[in-house]
Amino acid sequence: MGIERLSYGDEVFEYEVIVRRDLTNKVQIHVHPNGLIQVDKPDGANESDVKKAIRKRARWIKTQVDIVRDMRAHALPREYVSGETHFYLGRRYRLKIEQSSSPLSSTKLLAGRIVVEVPNPNVDRVRGVLRRWYKERAADYLGRRLEIVASDMRWVDETPHLRLTTMKRQWGNCSPNGEITLNPALVKAPRDCIDYVLTHELCHLREHHHGLEFYQLLASRLPNWKAVKSKLDSMAELLLV
Ligand SMILES: [Zn+2]
Repeated sequence: MGIERLSYGDEVFEYEVIVRRDLTNKVQIHVHPNGLIQVDKPDGANESDVKKAIRKRARWIKTQVDIVRDMRAHALPREYVSGETHFYLGRRYRLKIEQSSSPLSSTKLLAGRIVVEVPNPNVDRVRGVLRRWYKERAADYLGRRLEIVASDMRWVDETPHLRLTTMKRQWGNCSPNGEITLNPALVKAPRDCIDYVLTHELCHLREHHHGLEFYQLLASRLPNWKAVKSKLDSMAELLLV
């Protein structure tokens, strides 16, 4: 079937249509990890049905395509230069590096950008300053969310102590003595994903293993946890850097 194209705003979607006899009434759209948009259509659907379905889900497709693009860009070593994309609370921000006129460094969110001011910018310095900023934001934001999420759980008497530790593949864990450790990179994730990780760890204060009771408790607190988890999993490569 070849690749077809559809313009949407200043974006051109390239997609491949696959006819599926097992589909009865709806056109389905997938975005593959290589960026290819696959449109599955039932036998009876025509080209305008396909285009209509794409237009209807255009924003979602655009987001998925952007994520794939970012993933590919992030597969390369980060350079910590102006224009590079970094995440904060699920949103993408462009990095802006400025030469600081004082010996002090600073980082702030300004007009949709993360502005890092450093004397004599270079990769190591900017990376260090940015890491520190994420850790500070994590201590503040994750600490506040932890308090809010915990306050709603009857089995938690007192908000547990929060530790932040950079981990390669883990968002958090809960020690047998009830201390919660979170990866500061979690502050790059959307809020529902943050709350999911917090809820997961707080459920461990009552159910210490990943048994049936644990998942029942988790589902009672967060009925859609599976969807949120898969959203977080799909972004992991982007955020855990
Ligand atoms: Zn767990």
